[in-house]
Amino acid sequence: MRIASVKRPERVAVIGAGILGASVGWNLTRHGAKVVFIDAGQPGEGVTNWSFSWVNASNKTVRKSYFDLNVAGMAAYRELARTIGPDSWWHPSGHLRWTDDPAAEAKFLETAELLASWDYRVEVYTGAEVRRRLEPALTMPGEVPVLFYADEAWVHGRHLVGRLVGQAVASGAEHRSGTAVRDIGAGSDGSIRAVALSDGSRLDVDTVVNAAGPNASHIAELIARHLPMRREPGVITRISCAQVPIHRAMHAPHIELRPDGDASMVLHSREIDALIDTGEDPAELARLLHESARHVVPELGNSRIVETRVANRPIPADGFPSVGAVPSVPGYYEAVTHSGITLGPVIGRLLASEILSGKRDEMLADFRPERFLP
Ligand SMILES: Cc1cc2nc3c(=O)[nH]c(=O)nc-3n(C[C@H](O)[C@H](O)[C@H](O)COP(=O)(O)OP(=O)(O)OC[C@H]3O[C@@H](n4cnc5c(N)ncnc54)[C@H](O)[C@@H]3O)c2cc1C
Repeated sequence: MRIASVKRPERVAVIGAGILGASVGWNLTRHGAKVVFIDAGQPGEGVTNWSFSWVNASNKTVRKSYFDLNVAGMAAYRELARTIGPDSWWHPSGHLRWTDDPAAEAKFLETAELLASWDYRVEVYTGAEVRRRLEPALTMPGEVPVLFYADEAWVHGRHLVGRLVGQAVASGAEHRSGTAVRDIGAGSDGSIRAVALSDGSRLDVDTVVNAAGPNASHIAELIARHLPMRREPGVITRISCAQVPIHRAMHAPHIELRPDGDASMVLHSREIDALIDTGEDPAELARLLHESARHVVPELGNSRIVETRVANRPIPADGFPSVGAVPSVPGYYEAVTHSGITLGPVIGRLLASEILSGKRDEMLADFRPERFLP
């Protein structure tokens, strides 16, 4: 852990009020910092509202430090739910995964063993047990192995962002929505001085947090920084149903499903994402998602597609988060990541602490913005 010579910020502009910006700004406000949230749209209506929103670390085994950060993300959610109350945003009901492909099944079981060796809670049920004990509405073979990750969850991202921004504003934060950051002004020493907005106003700030999600590389360009990002769009469909027949998030064969409220569900599939660039109409992609969902949950026969959106994942080029200060531009910080639903609260806590104290947490050592310096 290194302690840089950082003076406490006078006023912080948080650019983007999705799950990342809301989490950083809420943590800063709690510790007495003066914060202004700026969002080109409305809080929580960016990718955060068009996400499968599964809080997990079981899908993050690619690098141990990344897995550990995601485990910390899960713990940060439990802490957040204790602090602000669970309300309609927090759904810690676990996650189910099974497949109809023998090769994929062997891989899942191998990953489950690795996760168990890392002390991550995983149970293996049969399809029959899952139907009897957890999800009676599912169609699945009785003998198929099903992984149950009991500590995982799903989150209603838009509701959570509303809570965090609302609490921060009640504690004195400012909030500008429907206006975009067009420019970032720096002093002769290169440090942050102001942001210029599309409504013509200019705000004096000495710190900015780039939490602009898929638009983060454009914000970085405003300080002449190159933040390379991948293009990896995904399609999310919401359906409405009289009563939601499932209780938790799940990866079923060819389809991911989760509840999204009392009469709404969210559908997603990596297989359907792969069709986005073929020029297929999003309405057709939604129809394919709906068809797969009805296959797994026959009770969805009377459900109806309500809305569909193709959204870009905010992914730095190497696939890992970019979080922290860029030392060459004093006062500029990044909070840009895929898996941002899982990571928002932990990144919010760690980055706010770094901004206020200059302490760089070891947990972020592999995810520093400096790795993208030219
Ligand atoms: C299909 C799909 C499935 C996903 N599934 C999961 C999952 O299961 N689990 C998980 O953890 N993650 C998942 N993710 C990723 C996760 O949703 C994102 O990482 C997370 O929502 C990013 O939040 P954010 O706050 O960075 O971005 P956003 O929510 O997009 O917020 C950024 C905000 O910045 C604002 N903005 C942009 N430009 C400007 C500007 N110039 N001035 C002012 N404001 C600006 C926008 O209006 C927006 O509100 C998924 C993503 C997709 C697309």
